Amino acid sequence: MLDTDFFRRWMTATASAVDREADRLTGLDSAIGDADHGSNMRRGFGAVTDVLEKESPGTPGAVLVLAGRQLISTVGGASGPLYGTLLRRTGKALGDAAEVSLDQLAEAFGAGVAAVAQLGGAKAGDKTMLDALLPAVEALGESVEAAEDAALAGALATVPLRAHKGRASYLGERSVGHEDPGAASAALLVAALAEAAGT
Ligand code: ADP
Ligand code: MG
Ligand code: MG
Repeated sequence: MLDTDFFRRWMTATASAVDREADRLTGLDSAIGDADHGSNMRRGFGAVTDVLEKESPGTPGAVLVLAGRQLISTVGGASGPLYGTLLRRTGKALGDAAEVSLDQLAEAFGAGVAAVAQLGGAKAGDKTMLDALLPAVEALGESVEAAEDAALAGALATVPLRAHKGRASYLGERSVGHEDPGAASAALLVAALAEAAGT
């Protein structure tokens, strides 16, 4: 079973990963966007780490709802509301359980990813974070490692795609040949799940 501390570790491991990889994320966003994805993610998850320390939410759901709310209020770019919605909706779906199973997390994360698709209007193959998140949802019922692998493969598979949503879509054909920055950061978020699980 996954307890509240597991969900805190997931968020702090994500904060460390985006901090470590901020330059790479910004580099990807400089090719097909406005070169702020690394700083957006670093600022957002840094604020998440701070608020979790300050407020100590007592359930898995409360950790994710608070983290999501913090992302929405600290990240101005597209990724703030989208990742904020992902975590908030996943947290809401977990309810007030003190511990959750991997199956329950997979189902809740599926609801969170569906909320991202609804908010942003993107679908699989549009070259967005969803191209890493959707395969991760599919694999998460099996294991966190399988989800990590699926998210990474999904992010790398955005390279040949043409963007249909977000700033990268303004480039049309010129968005082809670059990894989507949001898909790359989504792979970090899912890899942090495996890290939190201690695998
Ligand atoms: P901004 O584009 O506002 O500068 P970021 O650079 O932080 O925001 O985030 C860009 C990422 O957000 C993209 O790489 C893409 O993965 C994701 N994104 C943008 N628009 C959408 C959307 N409508 N649906 C899903 N993801 C999106
Ligand atoms: Mg950007
Ligand atoms: Mg921006």
